[in-house]
Amino acid sequence: MFDLSGKVAVVTGASRGLGKAISIGLAEAGADVIVTDVLNANETVEEIRKLGRKSIGLKMDVSKKEDVSSMVNQALKKFDRIDILVNNAGIYRAAPAETAKEEDWDKILAINLKGQFLCSQEVGKQMIKQKSGKIINIASVAGKSAFAQSVAYNASKAGVILLTKTLAVEWGKHNINVNAICPGVFSTQMTEDFLKSEDFLRMIKARVPMERCGEPRELVGAAVYLASKASDYVTGHALVVDGGWIAGL
Ligand code: NAD
Repeated sequence: MFDLSGKVAVVTGASRGLGKAISIGLAEAGADVIVTDVLNANETVEEIRKLGRKSIGLKMDVSKKEDVSSMVNQALKKFDRIDILVNNAGIYRAAPAETAKEEDWDKILAINLKGQFLCSQEVGKQMIKQKSGKIINIASVAGKSAFAQSVAYNASKAGVILLTKTLAVEWGKHNINVNAICPGVFSTQMTEDFLKSEDFLRMIKARVPMERCGEPRELVGAAVYLASKASDYVTGHALVVDGGWIAGL
């Protein structure tokens, strides 16, 4: 049920962190993976090839339509089809709402929300032709509950949840499942400054029922589930993977 043998996946923002862990996890489940990022993603590609799966790395910026179209063209030239898209690329900037910079708002919304739309649109056209596909959008618990100093990030992630539901509603008839994952706090470069703070760690211990943050590998099960046959009748859902944090809010 969870076997992804013969499937072709595209993962964005996959040079490190959650995108890298998800790419390797999909490959372990049997998928070939197109690894994309603005940064060099060779390390992820090499690890996937070591597992005996096919992989290529493509540099692209998810917020630029021409980059996204070119990535999809190159992916199709090499693999003929795309079965799974994981929209993972994202950025975070902290700032109080009253002084948050307009350019940061624009950049966060362009990468975190428009980027997921552009990739879904381009890959979605191919999935409609194939009459099948699985799209997984990485949102956040910040798309469900408001975190202070994160106005643009929260808005972008709430947008991702409604983007997910909208695409699920429109593309169900094409046999395309569109779901989101809402991670809590995971240990990656995005959160490394927070995780150095004793106050932050104390807050996690006090508020997260599991009393710790997540490791990137702990997001893989949710991604494999939503990419596999096991979730064929699940669409428009936002799956929270947060150690129980927002259950208690
Ligand atoms: P990260 O900073 O370690 O990795 C993000 C990746 O996205 C990087 O490889 C980066 O180069 C890439 N990227 C950034 N801008 C891009 C662009 N314009 N085009 C293509 N690639 C781009 O962060 P992470 O923690 O691995 O986060 C991955 C996703 O998970 C993000 O969407 C983030 O918002 C979300 N998320 C993370 C956490 C967490 O606690 N780490 C929690 C909730 C949600």
